[in-house]
Amino acid sequence: MTSLSAFNTFTGSLTEKGQLMPVLFIGHGSPMNGIEDNEFSQRWRAMAKEIPTPSAVLVVSAHWLSKGTQITAMDNPKTIHDFGGFPKALFDVQYNAPGNPIVAKETAALLTSTHVALDHDWGLDHGTWTVVRHMYPDATIPVLQLSIDYTKGPQYHYDLAKELYSLRKKGVLIIGSGNMVHNLGMMAWDKMNEPNYGFDWTLKINDTFKSLITTGDFKPLINYESLGKEARLAIPTPEHYWPLLYTLGLKGNKDSISIFNDKAVAGSLTMTSVKIG
Ligand code: ZN
Repeated sequence: MTSLSAFNTFTGSLTEKGQLMPVLFIGHGSPMNGIEDNEFSQRWRAMAKEIPTPSAVLVVSAHWLSKGTQITAMDNPKTIHDFGGFPKALFDVQYNAPGNPIVAKETAALLTSTHVALDHDWGLDHGTWTVVRHMYPDATIPVLQLSIDYTKGPQYHYDLAKELYSLRKKGVLIIGSGNMVHNLGMMAWDKMNEPNYGFDWTLKINDTFKSLITTGDFKPLINYESLGKEARLAIPTPEHYWPLLYTLGLKGNKDSISIFNDKAVAGSLTMTSVKIG
């Protein structure tokens, strides 16, 4: 019944009359943001109130990598606590948003350049639920995840995202969830609670990323390895950066672009986030 009523909501969302849903890239940062009431989670809550209520939420999370592309297709995705060393309160969180197998199939069918497998094992990892539970605390809106094919390169991910564009017309909120600057090996853990603490190279590459994003100059962002040593430090492994490429790939010709949560954390991580549309 859950999927059926959500499907009706989904088709009903076409009453949004030509309005395109925005697309977000959200820097999710520490899993603790999932239970903390801080400036980042407050902004996520505010964002949900500023944009139209979505028919469904589709998240491309840094924490679901697979060979080939998959989409969660179960009625009730489980809450995955894919981290260690955090307080029990974080492990106790259950975010019981429904899935929607029909939306999953429709989305898979849109991605014509690759075969998308319907997944019944994954669920909502912390790249998704730590953010979405703040945005939609009632957990009534269906939430799905699309995996990232780790065998592919950045251009592939950027191009694949374009095939999802029509979901924006159907009221689906697509979120890329990662972090643009994400170097855990260099983090100054003792500076975790110092507001906006970023290393010089972090702030420099963050400025470069923001400038390229807001001017719509995406090519260097796709070919990020050409952006020099700061980019290599920011992106020691690509999984937290790839979700940004999905968000950028979904930009339409008339969309505006804005930045939010533009803060560094513990030196080598940024929460910098993007709203398109
Ligand atoms: Zn993460």
